[in-house]
Amino acid sequence: MILKMNRGRVFIYPASGTGAWEAAIVNTFSQGDRVLMFETGHFATLWRAIAEKFGLVVDFVAGDWRHGIDPATVEAKLTEDAQHQIKGVVCVHNETSTGVTSRIGEVRRAMDAAKHPALLIVDVISSLASMDYRKDEWGVDVTVAGSQKGLMLPPGMSFNAVSEKALSASKTAGLPRAYWSWQEMLEPNKSGFFPYTPATNLLFGLREAISMLVYEDGLDNVFRRHHRHGEATRCAVRAWGLELLCLEPTEYSNSLTAVLMPEGFDETEFRRFVLGNFNLSLGAGLGKLKGRVFRIGHLGDFNDLMLCATLCGIEMGLDSFGVPIRKAGVSAAMAYLSGKQTDEVNASVNLQAS
Ligand code: PLP
Repeated sequence: MILKMNRGRVFIYPASGTGAWEAAIVNTFSQGDRVLMFETGHFATLWRAIAEKFGLVVDFVAGDWRHGIDPATVEAKLTEDAQHQIKGVVCVHNETSTGVTSRIGEVRRAMDAAKHPALLIVDVISSLASMDYRKDEWGVDVTVAGSQKGLMLPPGMSFNAVSEKALSASKTAGLPRAYWSWQEMLEPNKSGFFPYTPATNLLFGLREAISMLVYEDGLDNVFRRHHRHGEATRCAVRAWGLELLCLEPTEYSNSLTAVLMPEGFDETEFRRFVLGNFNLSLGAGLGKLKGRVFRIGHLGDFNDLMLCATLCGIEMGLDSFGVPIRKAGVSAAMAYLSGKQTDEVNASVNLQAS
């Protein structure tokens, strides 16, 4: 229900998200297969490294870590590939390192426009259950998900949600696999079992998380809540006079916001300062963003007061750390949350539109 899928199978691993990345690759491809991947950030870069370790030939489309996947590039690359040598289009939906969300529906339309049969494989580790994701409608063949973000569980459980097309590709895929094998899972799963010990305690947690998200809150309300918190956070960042890392408003992430530190201020030092003074743990700059970007998480079990407290800690922290800001972020976020469009909020909305 959360994946919006009525066809195919879901395989559940007692592993972190990285395991489900590996599972998606070894079940679908053979050594030497060509795949299209996109440099949207740190996690896309890590996934590419795994694909290459398994002998895939990755066409890694360069990116600036401030934009999502360009559907026009997908269409051009696939149209060029008249022999259909590209076997997979492998995407990260929400780049947790940058706060940029790629438009997977448009990637699918680009693949269809190119009439290309490659598998579409998508990581939704930091978007699932926080932002709308439509596995069937977007024709995603393998969705890679994890327990520890929008599903509000501890880490240690991950998923491959698999289409019939991917399942049949797994029968001929040549990469060796044992623990990750979908085929080995099929038979025991039929009677509710696993080929090895599952993460039993997390499965109980998953049942509760699904009940909260789907039956108590309602998924659309959860998405609206995260959108509201994302917008309020972006209002705060603009009102401080700081820069959002994400440059494209249609790609703003509603599960986290990455903020550029002004020149001369180190993100690691700032986060240490905020943790020490306010017991507030901010996300680090990852990969090539180390030292330059801090991240504000607003996903999962989160409400207005938690967001306001987070933004207060950041505003006090920035000010005491000596970063030149306007101390107007928290009030801009509060005005947005309470529906009052102050000049500050209007100014930031105008900025966004320009
Ligand atoms: N993909 C994304 C988008 C992530 O955010 C993460 C972790 O944060 C991973 C993959 C890797 O997952 P894990 O750390 O659970 O192995």
